[in-house]
Amino acid sequence: MSKIILTGDRPTGRLHLGHYVGSLKRRVELQNSGEYDKIFIMIADAQALTDNADNPDKVRENIIEVALDYLSCGLDPAKSTLFIQSQIPELTELSFYYMNLVTVSRLQRNPTVKSEIQMRNFETSIPVGFFTYPISQAADITAFKATTVPVGEDQLPMIEQTREIVRKFNSVYGEALVEPDALIPQNSVCSRLPGTDGKAKMSKSLGNCIYLSDTEEEVRQKVFSMYTDPNHIKVSDPGSLEGNTVFIYLDAFATDEHFVEFLPEYKNLDELKAHYQRGGLGDMKVKRFLDAVLQKELAPIRARRKELEQDIPAIYEILRKGSEVAKQEAAQTLQEVKEAMRINYFDDAELIQAQQLKFNS
Ligand code: ATP
Ligand code: MG
Repeated sequence: MSKIILTGDRPTGRLHLGHYVGSLKRRVELQNSGEYDKIFIMIADAQALTDNADNPDKVRENIIEVALDYLSCGLDPAKSTLFIQSQIPELTELSFYYMNLVTVSRLQRNPTVKSEIQMRNFETSIPVGFFTYPISQAADITAFKATTVPVGEDQLPMIEQTREIVRKFNSVYGEALVEPDALIPQNSVCSRLPGTDGKAKMSKSLGNCIYLSDTEEEVRQKVFSMYTDPNHIKVSDPGSLEGNTVFIYLDAFATDEHFVEFLPEYKNLDELKAHYQRGGLGDMKVKRFLDAVLQKELAPIRARRKELEQDIPAIYEILRKGSEVAKQEAAQTLQEVKEAMRINYFDDAELIQAQQLKFNS
């Protein structure tokens, strides 16, 4: 069986470090591993509209931002198909049929939907489109027969929901769909990077992000004002690592090579942590180290972005071509789905003939 990747992001803002460690960096590695037959990367504008219906300009403006972030991180249109969700109407059609295979109570129990509803204070005013977005996500994944979906941990219940829809579809209509696997980061810190404010998740909607396109100065400011241990007041105080965002980020980003380059008095992160816990290590020193580590990772991305920003029409052209390729792929799957569901009337000569015979008899 082919190995196929489908994943994407909502164009509700520029991409941040959470996206980077949760999914984007891995996608680029998988893309360059040569192990995958096809890779589809989707800018999920239709999904973004489910909770931004009154603000289409926000979605419209951010498509290019997400595309620039993709390309500057190393997604390569020669190897990966980058496309815009709304340009593939087949996805909507698939969603419509999948809706019949899911109950309202199952959607209500979906932990991602639950927590996102809470985060957006929707309470009883949940847009139907938002409520059903796990179904549309199942359509996105299955339209491309994806076997692998690299995502952050918050998306696991979504992939589970897709797998259920696939199993249900295949058992009712015959094997037409492929059951995907989620691929979450091995490093558990990366699968849900907290915000700079220490909140559970770095998220555009919470405004606690370090963006890939932030300037050097913005990154430094954000690192310097990051949440640490509130009881670590004097340098000599023993510090706690529990919920200490600076150390959590170091867990996600720092390597032994970074110590050699920027903080040679320590061999590795374990030594630095031990010193912090003993007391005698100030927050500022740790923050300066984190800043150096992040700047090193982000500088080349920032530089590539500056270059790419010089030719915006070329970026739209990449997305247009990608959307054409994606549309063909999704159309093929939709045809197979309709065949399986027996709603391919005009392609079914046998049906027409059999009915003729019925009426003749
Ligand atoms: P929004 O607030 O609009 O939902 P978001 O910041 O949550 O935006 P998404 O576009 O919903 O971003 O997420 C895109 C991908 O990035 C998903 O695979 C998600 O799991 C991953 N991701 C998002 N935030 C994080 C994070 N803080 N840590 C790890 N992965 C993340
Ligand atoms: Mg999200």
